[in-house]
Amino acid sequence: MKTRTKFSLFCALFAVLQASADESLLSDDNIKTAKSLAAIALASDHAHTLVRDLTTQVGPRLAGSDADKRAVAWAKTTLEKAGFDVVKLEPVEFPVWKRKLESARIVAPYPQKLIISSLGFSGSTNGELVAPVVSFTSLAALQDAAPEQVAGKIVFMNRQIERHINGDDYGDAAPIRYRSNTFAKEKGAKALLIRSLGTGSHRFAHTGAMTYDEFDTNLPAAALSRPDADQLERILDSGQELVLGLNLDTEQRKEGGSFNVIADIVGSEKPEEIILLGAHLDSWDVGTGALDDGVGVAIIIGTAELIASLPKRPRRTIRVVLFANEEQGGWGAKQYAKAHAAELQNHVAAAEPDLGAGRIWQFETQVPASWKSLPEELANQLSFLGIERGGNKTRGGPDLQPLKELGVPILGLNQDGTYYFDYHHTEDDTLDKIEPAALRQSVAAYVIISYLLADME
Ligand SMILES: [Zn+2]
Repeated sequence: MKTRTKFSLFCALFAVLQASADESLLSDDNIKTAKSLAAIALASDHAHTLVRDLTTQVGPRLAGSDADKRAVAWAKTTLEKAGFDVVKLEPVEFPVWKRKLESARIVAPYPQKLIISSLGFSGSTNGELVAPVVSFTSLAALQDAAPEQVAGKIVFMNRQIERHINGDDYGDAAPIRYRSNTFAKEKGAKALLIRSLGTGSHRFAHTGAMTYDEFDTNLPAAALSRPDADQLERILDSGQELVLGLNLDTEQRKEGGSFNVIADIVGSEKPEEIILLGAHLDSWDVGTGALDDGVGVAIIIGTAELIASLPKRPRRTIRVVLFANEEQGGWGAKQYAKAHAAELQNHVAAAEPDLGAGRIWQFETQVPASWKSLPEELANQLSFLGIERGGNKTRGGPDLQPLKELGVPILGLNQDGTYYFDYHHTEDDTLDKIEPAALRQSVAAYVIISYLLADME
């Protein structure tokens, strides 16, 4: 009995030792190399140089524009020089929209100019439209409104968003921008104005896309700067009739397109297994797209370049995808999922930075149970960068949504987005808003995760 107890104790101890050996999925060698790459990243401003060049030499790059073509050419040349094994362009088709002219004013009761920005896929007013205003604070309220309350008027959607580290309030409010047009049009509205989906107090209007209408019958629609939306709110609260003049001229053509720019560092042992790093190359036409998403482009190219500089390729492939036209409906992302459907089961994981240029503060995942302890082990390797472990329900970047729906594991290296929506989709989205130290930290985090996943057994 005694011997048997000793023996079973020994067995139990052996099982524990065995389990802890099994539990560690990352080797010391892997970790050492990942940490050395992170040390280089923390001492290098290479990624800052990349976003500086993109935003200076190309600047704003509205999808389907001539500037977008220059952005694709810039990306191709940059990736070819960066030591990737494969660089290719894959065509993406989408309708092209363009703003030509925009102005707005209060006609009555207190005449004055307003700061606005046309929304993507907005129609035109064909000269100045003068009409009274009716306001709503939610899509539900607009949907519930009687048509006679809305017909012949300019609908003003007045929903204020607040700062949030993950940009959650923007996500909650975004349907107001995408969908108000449809409901307002159904009820006979003449035009649509929305309070900018932005934070902060600057007098910039935040543009952004509405849902694409293939029949090109969207209402004329624009965003108002926050202080201008406050101004309208004060007048409406006084009970007086508010009449606005709105003059929007836009252009839309059905046939247009651009390219997803794809570059691989081909794996040495399992080249078919892919770690995908994504960012979108297009931007709005108003700022220079430094935060959205030039900095994301720089983070992922900088990360992959560090891995390409190693004497030996990692076991798996690192793929950089610069997606076409995220801003007006995620056209490049959908096309990538379609064109690469057959190899999606070999996409080990995907990550995309697209929440500005704040430090990464949290590591979330959305991965299957078969990953076992790996998410926690990866999180442990990030903790020295001040990054916390989050849960297993990450939203993931916008271009990853089609991949997520098809079951590709998603990694969320969450940037601090508290101030992102002060600048987002405005003239104020420029290079000076990027803090170099935060960018270095982001590349360090991306390189640790990317390298470990690419080279682990
Ligand atoms: Zn973006």
